[in-house]
Amino acid sequence: MGNVLVLAEHRQGELRDISIEMLALAPSVAEALGGEVMVLLLGSEVGPMAEKIAGHGVKVLVVDDPLFADYNSDKYQKVLSALIDDYKPKLVMMGQTAQGVDLAPALAVEKGLPFVPDIIGLEVEGGVIKATRQLYSGKVNAQVALKEADTGLVTVREAAFEAPDPSTAGAVEKIDSPLKEDLDYRKFVEYIEAEIGDVDITQSEILVGIGRGLKEDKNLPVAEALAEVIKADLCGSRAACDAGWLPDDRQVGTSGKTVQPKLYICMGISGAFQHIAGIKGAKTIVAINKDPNAPIFAEADYAIIDDLHKIVPQLTEKLKELKG
Ligand SMILES: Cc1cc2nc3c(=O)[nH]c(=O)nc-3n(C[C@H](O)[C@H](O)[C@H](O)COP(=O)(O)OP(=O)(O)OC[C@H]3O[C@@H](n4cnc5c(N)ncnc54)[C@H](O)[C@@H]3O)c2cc1C
Repeated sequence: MGNVLVLAEHRQGELRDISIEMLALAPSVAEALGGEVMVLLLGSEVGPMAEKIAGHGVKVLVVDDPLFADYNSDKYQKVLSALIDDYKPKLVMMGQTAQGVDLAPALAVEKGLPFVPDIIGLEVEGGVIKATRQLYSGKVNAQVALKEADTGLVTVREAAFEAPDPSTAGAVEKIDSPLKEDLDYRKFVEYIEAEIGDVDITQSEILVGIGRGLKEDKNLPVAEALAEVIKADLCGSRAACDAGWLPDDRQVGTSGKTVQPKLYICMGISGAFQHIAGIKGAKTIVAINKDPNAPIFAEADYAIIDDLHKIVPQLTEKLKELKG
């Protein structure tokens, strides 16, 4: 049977978005393979989390054991290795996250699994699993067929898929841990939260993005005024952040953050592929650029070809009026 085993990820008691995002893909792949989706949840006292996942109409296999209170790649690898032998899933999916990047290659080597990392698409054609991944920082999308094998492995890019809404009630099944004893050679020591500035742009619903076209930081109020009216957070291209107009944690793109706002209004940003890679998850993109050939327009839903210094204040005024 072509079952798909999805590894759920959580941190500090919170289910991570990627766990549900993967469920945007897994059911259609499982269906095409003639199997079902099983989500594996390893943790301690994770009952509510298991129910939350099951609410997406999938079967959740839970190892609820204090040994899994914190993430440890060696423990996860031992469990997954044993469960792959027991359940023989056709495909294992996990996030392209710090955890997934740590765990997946080692698991692939141990089990000799065909492995495609950082995928942004997944389908089955004639029984062959095909994954899409980006090459050259997003310039090229390549479809990679997984070599025929009992089990394949992919890691899924974060924020590349919209998390589906809860659907029908699935099932939660507690299973025995294949790991009976703690490991003495690798221990979880402490969790250190990465510093997040005053705003976490990965969570913003509306973003106003600025680029080099803003020219200088004394023009920042042009963007700030628009952001204030539409209750947006500010972010920028690397050029804008390197210039010091915004802090580094506001940079969007391959070497910055991946964002998925409902609305992204960007001004004076050319749309280099490194920037575009970070905004693929944006629902609606409005681009303001005076160059009609700027690559950003290939991504934009709405294009305003004009000088931002002329257009943005007018847009801000109009929006103010409309808001009454
Ligand atoms: C390894 C690597 C990683 C990178 N990572 C990132 C990343 O994470 N994020 C990122 O953004 N970039 C990244 N870059 C840089 C990227 O290649 C571009 O250089 C950068 O995105 C350009 O920023 P920009 O669009 O603001 O500036 P530019 O490319 O200089 O574009 C400015 C735009 O403003 C327009 N403009 C000028 N004046 C006006 C005006 N008055 N009104 C309207 N439009 C105007 C111009 O027509 C132009 O299109 C990376 C590069 C490398 C090599």
